[in-house]
Amino acid sequence: MNHQGTNHYIEAAKRSAQWHSDHLKEMKKCRFDTISVHGVYSMQEALDFNQGSIIEPVYMSTSQAYRDSDEMEAALGYQIPTWCYSRIANPSMYYLEGVLALLEGYGSDVETSCIATASGMAAIQTAVDPFLLPDKENPTRPVNFVATTQLYGGTFQQFAVRKDQERHIQWRKVVHSDDINEWESLIDENTRFLYGEMPSNPGQAFFDLDQVIELAHKHGIPMIVDSTVATPALMRPIARGADIVVQSVSKTLSTSGFGIAGAVIARKNLVSKNVGPEVKADFCMYAKTLPNRDNGPNISPMNAILAVNDIRTLRMRVDMQSRTTLTVSKFLETHKHIEKVDYLGLETHPLHELAKKYLVLVDSEYDEQYGEQVNRYGHLMSFRIKGGAQATRDVFDAMQRIWRATDLGRIKSVATIPAISTHSQQGEEGRKLADIPSNLIRLCVGAEHPDDIIADLNQALEVLDGKKIPYTSPEYSAGGASSATLKR
Ligand SMILES: *Cc1c(COP(=O)(O)O)cnc(C)c1O
Repeated sequence: MNHQGTNHYIEAAKRSAQWHSDHLKEMKKCRFDTISVHGVYSMQEALDFNQGSIIEPVYMSTSQAYRDSDEMEAALGYQIPTWCYSRIANPSMYYLEGVLALLEGYGSDVETSCIATASGMAAIQTAVDPFLLPDKENPTRPVNFVATTQLYGGTFQQFAVRKDQERHIQWRKVVHSDDINEWESLIDENTRFLYGEMPSNPGQAFFDLDQVIELAHKHGIPMIVDSTVATPALMRPIARGADIVVQSVSKTLSTSGFGIAGAVIARKNLVSKNVGPEVKADFCMYAKTLPNRDNGPNISPMNAILAVNDIRTLRMRVDMQSRTTLTVSKFLETHKHIEKVDYLGLETHPLHELAKKYLVLVDSEYDEQYGEQVNRYGHLMSFRIKGGAQATRDVFDAMQRIWRATDLGRIKSVATIPAISTHSQQGEEGRKLADIPSNLIRLCVGAEHPDDIIADLNQALEVLDGKKIPYTSPEYSAGGASSATLKR
């Protein structure tokens, strides 16, 4: 046997790390669409390691084998790049992490890294938990965080129940997130981070992110942003100074709806007076190699590649679906049965001007169609029906092409009534805080032609003029694993 020692491997790892870093620098010079299409997967990697496969391979393997004990020792000591075991890392997972890190850092020279997770909720937990540990010197000292109340329902539950109720980590609630004084009044020396969802799902709350970032940094704490609704095609908080972005990759990023996924993207050397230098230097690498290794919330290789594949078309989809959403909003705004339409793209929306500052279609100035920066506002909107909860359910039940589902970001139009679905668990009081009345329908506009979406809404609204709701006889399918599925 020819034992060459761990050094042999460490030297080789340095050479490939250098090559990889040069390659990333080259990718960083490319435009957004090019990065979306290629990510970090190179021709060289394809030819050297993947039989020339032009599409990123799905490494359906639990673990990685090593040449000898030296390589194993270097790998498990994290001295060489290794993926080791798919609970911790996997090459397919890295293709997703690599592209998201580049896209969130796009247009800036900020260095970013990413950790992919099994869901958006796991991403939020991954992003916030390292900041919520008890004080080492004074473990009984109370801990709090300041976050907006207009949040995705799952996030509301994670904060209100899992953190606040169960762990006594106080959630200090920002009700009017566009009021910077309210944010500031809630911060004290035990505040660990500021957190906001922008635009929020479904209320499309919006705040002046630049100001809130400045406030966080003034207090030596990180700014964490859930940017799921905007996606990096419209807004890149880290490039503006935020420390961490969380994405529910399940949504607009992977529009096809094949699987659940999440991601945390962080700047290198983030701001936090409460965590050690190793956590700040590369937060995502820290999360991957330590807490997430031990807690195990990471993504499967298959779901990672499905997301990678959808991300290739992100910018063009967001552009098209945003334009359609504006058309649909304008139609609804003038309809006699509609009380109110909430869409940031409408000039009548009170937060339109603020949203305009932040939501810009990336690279529109290099798009031959536009030749200048244009605003786009995404494909999430909501509207309120005149006549209350029952009238709202009647319109909802009459939709023929728009799917009734608790989903968002799909290539197909999907609607839900948040008060009885995504936001049912937080109770009347919580819904009031999040501004979710029972006559609100959330609509996420897909890539169908706007004429057909409008036609479906139009015929559904006719139930309020006396048209009958189409009757569908229910049958139960045995297909559901834990619960029977209702066949309409
Ligand atoms: C859906 C969603 C989440 C949670 O993501 P999952 O992938 O469903 O776990 C978090 N934030 C926002 C804004 C969402 O829409």
